[in-house]
Amino acid sequence: MASTSYIHIGSKALGNNVQFLQELLGTGTRISAVVKGNAYGHGVSVVLPALEKSGIDHFSVYSSAEARETYHYLSAGSTLMIMGFVDPTDLDWILDHRVEFYVSGPSQLKEVIHRARRLDRQAIVHLELETGMYRTGFTVADLKTAVSLLCSSGDRVILRGITSHFAGAESIANYTRIKKQFTLFNRLVRSLKQEGITAELRHIASSAAAINYPETRLDLVRSGILIYGYWPTRETFMNYAQRKKERHDPLKRALSWHSKVMHIKEVPEGEFIGYGLSFQAQIPMKIAVVPVGYCNGYSRSLSNNGHVIIREMRAPVIGLVNMNMIICDITEIPGVGTGDEVTLIGRQGSSVISFSSFAEMNNSLNYEILARLPENIDRQLTQF
Ligand SMILES: *Cc1c(COP(=O)(O)O)cnc(C)c1O
Repeated sequence: MASTSYIHIGSKALGNNVQFLQELLGTGTRISAVVKGNAYGHGVSVVLPALEKSGIDHFSVYSSAEARETYHYLSAGSTLMIMGFVDPTDLDWILDHRVEFYVSGPSQLKEVIHRARRLDRQAIVHLELETGMYRTGFTVADLKTAVSLLCSSGDRVILRGITSHFAGAESIANYTRIKKQFTLFNRLVRSLKQEGITAELRHIASSAAAINYPETRLDLVRSGILIYGYWPTRETFMNYAQRKKERHDPLKRALSWHSKVMHIKEVPEGEFIGYGLSFQAQIPMKIAVVPVGYCNGYSRSLSNNGHVIIREMRAPVIGLVNMNMIICDITEIPGVGTGDEVTLIGRQGSSVISFSSFAEMNNSLNYEILARLPENIDRQLTQF
């Protein structure tokens, strides 16, 4: 079944971004590629094998459901880690497949030890510490319990990592809070060590922290957005560029999104186009209908606001974004025919619609737009 639009994933772009990150981190810090949210909308079935070819062997997802989906595409030498929700009904599968996962509180750790004993398996866990985000993780008060549970678990629990997460490392406005979190993290790691509890991997940094706070890289960086070719925020890029005295963007966007012209129409001067009164033709116009709307991930906030590329020229989106369609102004673009390629994100000739400007226009984050690209759009790996 053909979808009304299609996504191309650039294997070279992914490789470029992985290499950039590897060079930035140097030896001694591993990368876990974050592929939650269907690889930020890029498609985990396409992205994961491509990342393995670029040398990535550690992947992170959010939930046990995502882990079960992702596991199909993982090769034998790679590690899969769940950073969040573990459904108790998935725990047996997790232990059977040696999938690593965060434990975020005493009762969960108790249950994990119990299951591991019953199934005669080892649980490979990352101890998540609460350092001031107030979301999940063992609090300072829970630490004693964690220590005694871990000590009593024998060889049923392998403590692979000690971890936490920053509450907004992408913005300098949060500087004091981030520094405080990192200080507490280090203090907790030290006191665990005094109790004889250590782990191979201490990790706290995501993409933004790895750029803005290099000292937080530790043993492993969990990076998503950078690998797909976007900066967490413009501020993060500026910070990188300033430090490197470098103005050129080293990242390459890994995703392009295309559709085709479905219908062309002439509109007389003075007529309204599409629903309601949101767009009136001030001159005689020519429009192209493109079969992509908000149910396909094309945000409604691009109504009278977004652009697409047709015949290598930018065409404004006019009127409201519909559920399944947008209308584009092609008055100034000669020779457009039905079936012509329409680029929603990406490049045609010298014209570019980049997701980052897309996101700024849309007043939303790259993360959200990407993650909302529906699973049922055709995705293909290409050479760009
Ligand atoms: C999503 C996520 C990351 C990756 O964040 P990026 O900004 O995409 O690099 C890292 N750690 C955790 C816990 C996450 O949920």
